[in-house]
Amino acid sequence: MRALLIEDTLTSATLVSHQLRKIGIEPILARDGERGIELFKQERPDLILLDIIMPGMDGFEVARRIRQLEQAGEWTPIIFLTARTSDADLEKGISVGGDDYLIKPVSETVLAAKLKAMQRIAQMRYSLLVLTRKLDDANQELTRLSSLDGLTGIPNRRQFDDTLLREWRRSSRQRRPLSILLCDVDFFKQFNDGYGHQVGDECLKAVARTVQSVLRRPADLAARYGGEEFAVILPDTELTGAVQVAEAVRSSVEGLRITHRFSRGSGVVTVSVGVASTTPAPGETDSAGLLKRADDALYQAKQAGRNRIAAAPVTPAI
Ligand code: GH3
Ligand code: MG
Ligand code: MG
Ligand code: MG
Repeated sequence: MRALLIEDTLTSATLVSHQLRKIGIEPILARDGERGIELFKQERPDLILLDIIMPGMDGFEVARRIRQLEQAGEWTPIIFLTARTSDADLEKGISVGGDDYLIKPVSETVLAAKLKAMQRIAQMRYSLLVLTRKLDDANQELTRLSSLDGLTGIPNRRQFDDTLLREWRRSSRQRRPLSILLCDVDFFKQFNDGYGHQVGDECLKAVARTVQSVLRRPADLAARYGGEEFAVILPDTELTGAVQVAEAVRSSVEGLRITHRFSRGSGVVTVSVGVASTTPAPGETDSAGLLKRADDALYQAKQAGRNRIAAAPVTPAI
């Protein structure tokens, strides 16, 4: 424990320093208020013993300033040490931010007992701070986890919805295009039924990783949209760009060459992708239309034979 002793009278400073050392505390000594504040800033002590009557700045003012210097959540115990004995002085000492008040000359026993009490409060406070920090960390982790899909580890539907809303508003403000992809694994029911749910899960993880790995821009987002469906948000991307990304997703999944002998297609796991793009008009708040068009395009891709992409016609910008 480090104590800052602010005391102008040499005899008193020497005596209290001696008493402090006897209970194992090495005091930092300041002989006036200004120096005391300076040392407080430099040393950040655990406790302050503060004289009241001093030339220049008095102890009340020193306490007031120290309380102002403390950051939110910070607290250094201040014990006034004084020859003054009036109730009004005690009241003032506490109201400017002091925590206790000792009358000089202070007995060694009383000083030691008061310091012990302060130390106990300080420790309790510290434990509380540590606990609060842990709680904050846990909360942050919880927020992070609640936005990720449990199976694949990529963003979940919730994060997709949040991001789409944000990007939709940005596109609308900046009059920039926004594209989305809806990807759906082909004949996945047969895959599951044929190989079992666990193998199905592994397949979904691999597809998720692949969809994510295709994306290049930091603002792009791939999410698990539903069971075997993945959705991608491509901010600031026109239909032609989105079609390229969609084709890259499709060919990368095919390139995984995950055997699917129950597929009526190529014998490996493939995806179909629906693409839609728009530049949201100012005040157009609903992105459901964009999703619907991507879903319709996905349906077209399925109808046309799967393992392919289809794009919805671009809506004219208003
Ligand atoms: P299509 O080519 O038309 O897309 O046919 P499909 O069989 O892929 O589509 P359907 O929607 O009929 O089946 C999707 C299947 O995906 C149903 C279910 O067995 C499987 N599935 C959905 N979620 C999960 C999951 O979390 N894990 C596993 N292993 N399978 C899942
Ligand atoms: Mg004095
Ligand atoms: Mg599906
Ligand atoms: Mg499917």
